[in-house]
Amino acid sequence: MPSSEIEAIRLAVTQLCGKFSENYWLALDKTQAYPTEFVQALTKAGFLAALIPEEYGGSGLGLLEACAILEEVSRSGGHPGACHAQMYVMGAVLRHGSKSQKETYLPQVANGVLRLQSFAITEPTTGTDTTNLKTTATRDGDQYRINGQKVWISRVEHSDLMLLLARTTPKEESARKTEGMSAFIVELDKAIGNGLTVQPIDAMINHHSCELFFDNLKIPAQNLLGVLDQGFRVVLDGMNAERILIAAECIGDARYFIEKATSYANERVVFGRPIGANQGIQFPLAEVYAQMRAAALMVEHAAKLFDAEQPCGSEANMAKMLAAEASWKAADIAMQTFGGFAFAKEYHIERKFRETRLYRTAPISTNLILSHLATKDLGMPRSF
Ligand SMILES: Cc1cc2nc3c(=O)[nH]c(=O)nc-3n(C[C@H](O)[C@H](O)[C@H](O)COP(=O)(O)OP(=O)(O)OC[C@H]3O[C@@H](n4cnc5c(N)ncnc54)[C@H](O)[C@@H]3O)c2cc1C
Repeated sequence: MPSSEIEAIRLAVTQLCGKFSENYWLALDKTQAYPTEFVQALTKAGFLAALIPEEYGGSGLGLLEACAILEEVSRSGGHPGACHAQMYVMGAVLRHGSKSQKETYLPQVANGVLRLQSFAITEPTTGTDTTNLKTTATRDGDQYRINGQKVWISRVEHSDLMLLLARTTPKEESARKTEGMSAFIVELDKAIGNGLTVQPIDAMINHHSCELFFDNLKIPAQNLLGVLDQGFRVVLDGMNAERILIAAECIGDARYFIEKATSYANERVVFGRPIGANQGIQFPLAEVYAQMRAAALMVEHAAKLFDAEQPCGSEANMAKMLAAEASWKAADIAMQTFGGFAFAKEYHIERKFRETRLYRTAPISTNLILSHLATKDLGMPRSF
């Protein structure tokens, strides 16, 4: 897509976000409420269906355009974590779903009738070590019975469908450690209260994350997504998209902090001059601005590789790491620039500071990215 069209998307998103002020997000944060009106507006405008092909009712755009959408939401002061998964979880259905699954779900996700914005991988006892997950799916006639536990599963209470990764063959009986797990589509209205219990987590940010308890939850066998025992591949495909999109959100956050802090530094007068006239205030902002611009190039590079269907695992990881480090540094510099007022909620810095911190940890932590680069790109021995 020509850059002028991406600029038009950015402008349209900025205009939509302008209807949802920072006070809107602050009020939600205080009550831990879900941004229903914002998500509806984004859905109605077609932005959350950006990656769904036109034949299923979506916009058929690429990841580069989707990145621009989420970046602008973050830059405007909003928190796209409330709905970003709607963009990339559907990729698993698109690439691995049967004809019937695609025709059943994708048009309804595109038109907003169904929300597919929850995916359940992380477990309390295994964490990042996904191939050791313990939740099981056992075949029982024309159904699977699900047993186990998940943690930090976001937006479950605000989604109709959830992608679930569970073990279908014991690890010892699988040829490779990445095999023996399968992906399933869970219809949440049927599942909750019938074998699935959802327990919200009281967390540092308003991200709607929950613990899930599966006690003999029965789901139809036809809800298996992709090939039996090859579910890791189903989720892996989506992980690159997720990391690149979240990196774009971090770029948006970094731009938000840099713009707000610069503006404040130019206005705030202490010792008879704007604090921004002091190099102690200027240089950290200039430095993180350069870091943000460099990280943005890596995000763009990774998105272009993804759109060209080229391998992009390392680039997606580097984009996510560099962008998350830039946004976190920008957040800290903004806190320092705003002085004491940074701590007052009405200035919004502390909320965004808390929100952007997430991305050094999730969806994958910095250490795990460094480990990937050290072993896969640099060829050093695996430490685990
Ligand atoms: C707000 C929020 C929302 C989330 N949403 C979802 C969701 O929707 N779906 C989902 O499935 N998950 C979700 N997660 C989970 C998230 O992906 C995990 O928290 C994250 O991957 C880290 O896993 P963990 O918390 O178990 O940390 P652990 O795996 O316990 O790791 C703890 C720390 O140790 C480090 N570490 C572990 N092993 C090594 C090693 N070998 N070498 C070096 N360092 C190591 C890690 O880098 C990390 O810093 C969410 C988490 C949060 C906080």
